Amino acid sequence: MQLTNRSKVVSNKEQSFMERLYLPAIAKGMLITASHLFKKTPTTKYPEQTRPMAPVYRGEHVLKRDENGAERCTACGLCAVACPAEAITMESAERKKGEEHLYREEKYARTYEINMLRCIFCGLCEEACPKEAIFLTDRIVDAEYERENFVYGKDKLVEKMTARIDVSKRQTLEVAEFKKIPGLKHNELYDGKSLGKGKKH
Ligand code: SF4
Ligand code: SF4
Repeated sequence: MQLTNRSKVVSNKEQSFMERLYLPAIAKGMLITASHLFKKTPTTKYPEQTRPMAPVYRGEHVLKRDENGAERCTACGLCAVACPAEAITMESAERKKGEEHLYREEKYARTYEINMLRCIFCGLCEEACPKEAIFLTDRIVDAEYERENFVYGKDKLVEKMTARIDVSKRQTLEVAEFKKIPGLKHNELYDGKSLGKGKKH
C-alpha cells in the first residue's frame, strides 16, 4: 500500500559529462546558500529577545496558592500517578493547628519535587490534579550546568506571594463557567442534582 506520493523511482542511468563534472550542482548549491544571505534571519537572540508564547504553552510548573495565600496541594499523589515520565515525587504531612493560613487542606506536601530532566511537559499532572494546585506556565526552565539543579523543589515550584501567576487562560471554558456557580467551587464535587447546594468533596 502506498502511504505517500513522495517515493522516487531510483534510476541507474549513466551520468552525463556535465553531471560527472559536478560543477553545475556545486554552483546551484552555492546559489541556494547565497540566497539565504539576503533573507531575514529567523534566529532569536534569547534571552535578550523572546519569542511570543501561546498563553497555553506548557513550560515550567507552578504550585498554586489559594486566594488567601495557602498552598492548594493536598499531596494526594494523583499528579505523580498520572505522570508518564515518573518525574514527580512528594512526601505528605498533616497540617497542624494554626497552620490553616499556610495549607488549604488537612494534608499537605511537606516536600514536592519535579525532575525537569525527566519531564516531557505533557500537562497530564495539571489535568489529573483535583485541587487546581499544579499548572504548567509559559516560563522556560532555566539552563543549568549540574543535573541535580534540575530537580525543582517547593522553593522553586510554589507560587510566591509577591509574584502571583495568572493561570486563568489555561483553564477550560467549562471550568471557568463552573466556578461562577455560587456554592460550587472548583474543589467541590460537581453533582447535577445538588447544583447550587455546594456538596463537599
Ligand atoms: S508535565 Fe507530564 S511529564 Fe512533566 S511532570 Fe507533569 S505529567 Fe510528568
Ligand atoms: S498537585 Fe494536585 S494532584 Fe498533585 S499531589 Fe497536589 S493536589 Fe494532588
